[in-house]
Amino acid sequence: MAERVAGVRLAPYTTLGLGGPAGAFAEASSAEEIVELVASADRAGEPVLVLGGGSNLVVADEGFDGLVVRVASRGVDIVGDRVTAQAGVDWDALVALVVAEGRSGIECLSGIPGLVGSTPIQNVGAYGQDVSQTVTGVSVYDRVTGEVVGLTAGECGFSYRDSVFKEEPDRHVVLAVTYELARDGLSGPIAYGELAAALGVEPGERVPVARAREAVLKLRRGKGMVLDAADPDTRSAGSFFTNPVLTPAQAAELELRVPGFPRWDAPGGLVKVPAAWLIENAGFPKGYRRGPARISTKHTLALTNPELAATTAEVLALAREVRDGVLEKLGVTLVNEPVMVGTHL
Ligand SMILES: Cc1cc2nc3c(=O)[nH]c(=O)nc-3n(C[C@H](O)[C@H](O)[C@H](O)COP(=O)(O)OP(=O)(O)OC[C@H]3O[C@@H](n4cnc5c(N)ncnc54)[C@H](O)[C@@H]3O)c2cc1C
Repeated sequence: MAERVAGVRLAPYTTLGLGGPAGAFAEASSAEEIVELVASADRAGEPVLVLGGGSNLVVADEGFDGLVVRVASRGVDIVGDRVTAQAGVDWDALVALVVAEGRSGIECLSGIPGLVGSTPIQNVGAYGQDVSQTVTGVSVYDRVTGEVVGLTAGECGFSYRDSVFKEEPDRHVVLAVTYELARDGLSGPIAYGELAAALGVEPGERVPVARAREAVLKLRRGKGMVLDAADPDTRSAGSFFTNPVLTPAQAAELELRVPGFPRWDAPGGLVKVPAAWLIENAGFPKGYRRGPARISTKHTLALTNPELAATTAEVLALAREVRDGVLEKLGVTLVNEPVMVGTHL
């Protein structure tokens, strides 16, 4: 079994650079090792944190009193249009690989940090694509039954930044993910207006996949959304808040406060509002600082630890100030996107 090390600080394993020590830390280099580590911790009643790239985590200053299993399984298998990657494969490396083969379906998810195994957890998405559009199956270790099983896409319960994996957070450990990625050289229809404009096409048109990837990476870099050690704005967990989805009654209430507020239609007659717009309109501009924690200077939705000098408590104090300010000024409740470990907003 993989070696367990005591007292490893988690901050260097997260993109926010936050988090105290783990009770025990082990790196699992195969699906078998992941299962072995998690199953033995479960038998001993020891809490488990499955750690990917740490890009969607806010870990408490006190750390995590249990076993942290760092996923490091590698390998990609391609059969026809089906691409199966082990959970520990770097996500953007997979995107680069399939785009180089002219496969389409995940090119707009270029530059998202983290590992393959985390992509189904919150149904990772950007620029009009999310993984629910291409995932056909997920191999998981079910901690309740103690079995390795294959879930179909339907069984994953995907919705906007959500899935059964997020709904039942301590149940499934993702071991591998299969995506259906046809090799026709063209991107999926470009659904996102900003990306279509950057590519000089109309929404719905298709472009060579490599062009779509390049355009997405360029847009993301401009927002500090591609990890870059030289860019302090990328010391974040990505978007800290999801875009709120309002009922018609809630939307009518916001309309009274801000006539003509920006919105998109969401399924079921609901209305999605850009969280970044809410934050800016509640008085929190880009670069807004609270001690060592700062809103990104490029993207209002990212809370950052720019000098790696903040504590988790300080970043969360900024998050609460923003959340409470939006509620007070605009009457909308923001919900955090990153997973909280040993702490809460
Ligand atoms: C600069 C930046 C930009 C980002 N942009 C986007 C974006 O455009 N769209 C988007 O959706 N997200 C974005 N994110 C968020 C993040 O990158 C994604 O959520 C990513 O999928 C997280 O992967 P990870 O491996 O780092 O997961 P981690 O942060 O390590 O873990 C996240 C959660 O998944 C669980 N987990 C991890 N691996 C497994 C596994 N194998 N089995 C079961 N549970 C597991 C963890 O326990 C934790 O609960 C961004 C983050 C950053 C820092």
